[in-house]
Amino acid sequence: MTGIYPGSFDPITLGHMDIIKRSSKTVDRLIVGVLNNQGKTPMFTAEERVAMIREAVKDMPNVEVRSFEGLLVDFARSMGASIIVRGLRAITDFEYELQMSQTNRIMNKDVDTIFFTTSLEYSYLSSSVVKEVAMFDGDLTQFVPPFVIEKVRAKLKK
Ligand code: ADP
Repeated sequence: MTGIYPGSFDPITLGHMDIIKRSSKTVDRLIVGVLNNQGKTPMFTAEERVAMIREAVKDMPNVEVRSFEGLLVDFARSMGASIIVRGLRAITDFEYELQMSQTNRIMNKDVDTIFFTTSLEYSYLSSSVVKEVAMFDGDLTQFVPPFVIEKVRAKLKK
């Protein structure tokens, strides 16, 4: 069974890593799908985000990283995936996630969404929190993998 874990990952956090580790044990192959959304202006390009995640998952043999544009269900179909993996942090995630999963299911009934509830230590963590703390030069060691800290710092110096 192939699963897709889609997101912006701008940048990848330890919360995302936790979901990748846990969900990759439940499927044969996990594809981390990096959304290349032209509408948003991300801190990192899709290529940079893909490269960072590839580095972070290099010791996980059944995890692949790819970027995609357009509808998630179309990407899932093209990858032969039957499972979409998403993470749930707080009740505030729930409404949006429920709506997305129902919409996706209507568009492609062969794909189902599985939710992983956040590990307690990451329940507050998001890419936006990382960017905000970085902006004020705060310590990022508890938020992102070590090599990502350098990339975020380098971006902010530009
Ligand atoms: P999106 O823009 O699609 O929400 P994100 O990169 O912010 O993309 O998140 C991707 C997925 O990872 C979402 O399902 C989100 O709920 C989940 N996620 C993000 N941070 C955490 C965390 N700290 N713990 C658990 N899940 C998380």
